[in-house]
This record gives sequence, structure tokens and C-alpha cells, in this order.
Amino acid sequence: MEKDYYVCTGCGLLCDDIEVELEKNAVNKVYTACRVGVAHMKEGSRDSAFLVDGKPADEAAAIKEAALILKNAKNPLVFGLGTSTNEAQKLAIELAKKLSATLDDTSSFCLGPVVEALLQEKFKTCTLDDIRHKADVAIFWGADPSDSHPRHLSKFSYFPRGQEKQRGWEEERTAICVDIRKSHTAKICGNYFFQVPQGGDAEFIEALIAGLSGKIPKTSYNYPPKKLLELANILKGAKFGTIFVGLGLLYSLEDLGPLVRLLETLNEKAKGSFHLVPMVGHYNMRGFNENLFAETGYVNSVKFEEGAVKHGPEYSVVEALKAKAVDAALIIGSDPLSSLPRSIAKNLLEIPIITVDPCETLTSRKAKVAIRSGVSGVESGGSATRMDGVEVSFKPIVETNRPSDEEVLKKLMEAL
Ligand code: SF4
Repeated sequence: MEKDYYVCTGCGLLCDDIEVELEKNAVNKVYTACRVGVAHMKEGSRDSAFLVDGKPADEAAAIKEAALILKNAKNPLVFGLGTSTNEAQKLAIELAKKLSATLDDTSSFCLGPVVEALLQEKFKTCTLDDIRHKADVAIFWGADPSDSHPRHLSKFSYFPRGQEKQRGWEEERTAICVDIRKSHTAKICGNYFFQVPQGGDAEFIEALIAGLSGKIPKTSYNYPPKKLLELANILKGAKFGTIFVGLGLLYSLEDLGPLVRLLETLNEKAKGSFHLVPMVGHYNMRGFNENLFAETGYVNSVKFEEGAVKHGPEYSVVEALKAKAVDAALIIGSDPLSSLPRSIAKNLLEIPIITVDPCETLTSRKAKVAIRSGVSGVESGGSATRMDGVEVSFKPIVETNRPSDEEVLKKLMEAL
């Protein structure tokens, strides 16, 4: 009998080889997934909940109240969506247009700039499947996938046998880690761990470019030139290399200039080609970026107004809240009251909040209207975009009486 495989929406890897055992419409056992995925896939199967002013309400009343809040707002904020399907994200973009809203997701303070640069073709990129089949060098830079994406190394980037990598990691792959601390991934990389001081990545990159160009690599923090030259030589010999960019690297750089120059130098000096893949955390942050980019040419931080679209840091969630520029918030699958600095997040408490989220969060507890949606990938299906840009479709595993994000957004659109 043919087996049923499911997709895990626990992180941006969207592993599509998951087997489950069900018991009374609940996920009882999960096979193949990592510990994060197992916990995520057992998350569903709770009762439907619609709350208005913290009290249980029926669906129609909750949607009516939410629509009223949005209608009365002059500049509502639509925020979140990194854990919503592509279908829900496209509806949210339509809704934001209809409301002349400010629209943003967590990528504006996360890996958005890297995804934007990829979509603008400033970097060469590739798929995780290309990496599994062909890559001989992988650099984890400011990223620790052993903790954040636990199957990254085993499924794609280091341990698997690939079509052109039959002799495996022992002979044919080199994993390199550049980080400020000896992470779990750094330990796997062994001697190929290059520890940089906090904020020292840009200088390390420039020194590496010097090393790749036949010069003596120097840094103000006296990184051993011999070690940098050793790294430069490994990279020069690569036939198919990838840099996995994590937040640790992005937060350390003022802009992407050093990274662009490094990729250009690598593609000039190395035997083969070098690619860049962002270590996207939320399972569909990249989907949000791509969907908004297709619609507006921007990946986040936009404001719709009379058929036009404005873009800039002032339309990011952080700046919009800081400036108190928004007067209502529809927050889908995110918890800004927990994740943003208190000095900024507290401004949310001055405006009416609507949340659509499978979980009870600090933000949902403070919401005027809180809608508990189904967990996508567990209780609702759809499609999402993996960290490397590949679209993955998935079906629900269990039935629920909770609406999906997509259904909630459809109803909100109708009610407006
Ligand atoms: S690595 Fe990510 S997508 Fe894969 S099973 Fe773990 S949490 Fe799920």
C-alpha cells in the first residue's frame, strides 16, 4: 500500500517526508521529523475559539466586530503572515489594498533584505535539492541550523549522499561555520569553525576577499592570516559552494555590500560556482516576501494608498508603531507584544488589536477580537515557499472545526 507523506510546517525547510499515526483525530506518533517538527505536528486538535473582549463569541459576531474595527481605522496595520499559507498571504495583500493599510511581516527585522536581494538577482542562488546532489562546500555563517532547522545538515547540506556526491560527507563535502560562538553546528564543522568577534563579520569578509585575491588578509582584531588563507584555499577549490546566511551575519553588517563583493570574488576565483541561501526561520516568510514582491516590487514595509503603493522603513512594523502611525492592527500568526522591544510594543496596547493565531499569545490576550485558527500543515492545507524559493503544497493531517487563516481572511473581506 502506498504510504501517505505529510509536510512539516515547523520551519523554513518544509520537510515533505513525514509519516504520522493518528488516534481519535489527533497526531499520536510522528516519524522522520525532528524534535521541533514532532512538537509542532502534535500541536493541533483544539476547540474552535472566537473571543471578543476576552469573552467567547460566535464566529459571525467576531468577524463582524473585526470588520468594524478595520472599517473605522484610517491607517490599519496588517502584520505577521510568516506562518500562513501563500493563499492566505495573497488574500491579506488584497485586504491591505482594500483597507489602504500598512502591511509588513517579521522579515523587516529579519532576513528580508537578503530575500529582496535574491529576488533582485543580486546574488546567485540554488535549491536545497541542488545542494544535496552537487554541493561540496557549505558555509553556515551566523546560523546554527542544528538548533534552528534540525534536519538541514542531514537532509540537504552535509550528511546525505547526493546524485553527484555518492561518497558523502566523509570524503566529498566540507562544512564550514563562521560565527561568534561555538554553536552546535560549529562543533560538527570541527576544524572548519572560524570564530569572529561580535560585529567583526564585515572585516572578516574583506580579509577573506583579500586572501582569495592573493593578498595577505588582515583584520584589526588580528585574525590569524594563516587560518584565513586556509579558508580562502578551501573556497577556491570548491566546485559547488553555498553560503547559508543567518541572522547573526545580517545583524553584524551595515549593508549587504561586503556579502555581494564576497560572492562576486568567489564566483571569479573558485573552481565552480557559489550560491547564497537565506536561513529563513518561519515556514513561509519567504512566501510572504515573494508574494508581496510579485504584487508591488517590495518584500515588506509597504503602505497602500488610493491604488498606489509606498515603501520605506517608516512602513515597517517597528517604525509604524514607534511613530504611532497606525490606529488598528490585524495580526496574523505573530506575537509582537512578546517579540518587539517593550518601548515599541506598548504602543500596540493603545489601538484595537485583532489576532488570527492558532496559539494563545500575549498579543491575542490583549486583542479586542481573537480568532484561533487551525495550524496550517496540521489542520489546514495550502502551499508555502521553502527557504530556497521552492513551492511546496501540503494537505491537512487532522480535521478541525477551526477556520484556516485563509477562511478568516475571506470572511473578513466579505464583511468589509
Ligand atoms: S527540520 Fe523543520 S521542517 Fe523539517 S521536520 Fe524539523 S521543524 Fe519540521
